[in-house]
Amino acid sequence: MLIGVAGAALAVGALLVLAPIDHGGRRRLPERSTVAARRPARKAVAHLISHVRLGRSVRRRAIDAIVLGDVRSQRRVLVVGCIHGDERAGIAVAKRLAASSAVPGAALWIVPDLNPDGAAARTRQDANGVDLNRNFPYRWRPIGARGDQQYSGPRPLSEPESRAAYRLIQRVRPAVTIWFHQPLGVVDESGGDVGVERRFSRLTGLPLRRLKRYPGSVATWQDHRFRRATAFVVELPAGRPSRARVERWSRAVRAVAASTAARAAPRRDPASRGASASRVAG
Ligand SMILES: [Zn+2]
Repeated sequence: MLIGVAGAALAVGALLVLAPIDHGGRRRLPERSTVAARRPARKAVAHLISHVRLGRSVRRRAIDAIVLGDVRSQRRVLVVGCIHGDERAGIAVAKRLAASSAVPGAALWIVPDLNPDGAAARTRQDANGVDLNRNFPYRWRPIGARGDQQYSGPRPLSEPESRAAYRLIQRVRPAVTIWFHQPLGVVDESGGDVGVERRFSRLTGLPLRRLKRYPGSVATWQDHRFRRATAFVVELPAGRPSRARVERWSRAVRAVAASTAARAAPRRDPASRGASASRVAG
């Protein structure tokens, strides 16, 4: 599938087939995935930017990722600017990150907006009225009905937006994933490595708290499914963020990316599931 690409990037760059990511040979991006890459002559990886089409929303809006750095890097960090359409502050952080230079040694996968229909309509849910953060498989259960704040959808991964994120995470296996929300102004202890969350809390000045964990949340699914990876929720403060705050938060993401060891996690084997069965949500 062809990528939504900034015209400028296409003009200077070549269209490449995205090389499969090496996960010990276990997983590959789909063959139809292509990437438009801009690779200035002498600055190779430091300025390598790829655009990947992840899928489309219910209303057929594009859901894209921008990859900063080498897509084949073993040190992968995923940042999602928006999953709830009425919590859009993280989009500014994602865009700021996408406009910055690569983090040496890391690939930063940036999804500015996983819920473009919700963002356009200023609704928490997607265009089917589903709360995407209740639509993931781990401990999914039916919640509410269409239009309810936390409607979980008819079944896990019923929504094209959640499926796009699910596929991406399965293939990329980020060592660290940051999910931006609003408006509580805290870093949530979401169930992964609390050291990473604490560091992000320090860097941003957002206090570390443990929020309620909900069935079907994506961070909880990730923390359960990928044992050594860390996915966590960052609740940014309410309202539109100042430039200074966007700058500080994006720097914090870059610092975490820089210090993230390569720890793409192996599949959690079924026998170990009981150990984390008490974990719910994010
Ligand atoms: Zn939210």
